[in-house]
Amino acid sequence: MTPIGILGGTFDPIHFGHLRLAEEVAQQLALSVVRFIPSGKPWHRDPPGATPEQRLEMVRWAIAGNPHFVLDEREVRKNSPGYTVETLTELRREIGGEQPMCLLLGADAFLGLPTWHRWRELFELTHVVIAHRPGFSLLQEQMDCLLREEIEPRMSTGALSLHGLSGGLVMTCPITPLAISATIIRAGIGAGRSPRYLLPESVLDYIQTHQLYR
Ligand code: ATP
Repeated sequence: MTPIGILGGTFDPIHFGHLRLAEEVAQQLALSVVRFIPSGKPWHRDPPGATPEQRLEMVRWAIAGNPHFVLDEREVRKNSPGYTVETLTELRREIGGEQPMCLLLGADAFLGLPTWHRWRELFELTHVVIAHRPGFSLLQEQMDCLLREEIEPRMSTGALSLHGLSGGLVMTCPITPLAISATIIRAGIGAGRSPRYLLPESVLDYIQTHQLYR
């Protein structure tokens, strides 16, 4: 069965690092779709610079025209912390027990996994696919030992094995390294520099029209 991909994030704002991650992992693993799920009120960081509605709208602009990318508004609509384990439990109920699901994480997000609410349960719901990100090492010696123990028996190297199970495997995916982050973009705009070519033109237009991050 063709797996679906899930990419959660604050997307404050969405940028080419997110879009290449989704595109390259989708191609490497032959995913049918990638669902972008912007977070509601993030529980693990400062409040975002843009409102939830604005972050949704920027994702909507960024993925427009790509039939394999879908916007999932559920976490923003809930207006609560929207823990990933709860979102994926809900999704699992909707798509049924058989459909393979892949949670896409950049290396930084993956390394922070042990701080997430009920993180071990995620592996019962989904595969976890880790995309390389400049500045974050995936060497096992540098990982939290709880994380290392959890993933060691789950590591898979073949994309096809992810198609045969609904979840439970872990795989790393090399992608084009792009040292872009939303933090750098927000800081640049705050300092009067243009983020042009770090994110889609449509998102840049939206940021300028709504005077975000100044
Ligand atoms: P911020 O700088 O505000 O923390 P961010 O750029 O890291 O934001 P998020 O919305 O927090 O963006 O990230 C959502 C997901 O996308 C996370 O899994 C993160 O690791 C991944 N990601 C973001 N940027 C990149 C990138 N340049 N390369 C690989 N993965 C990325």
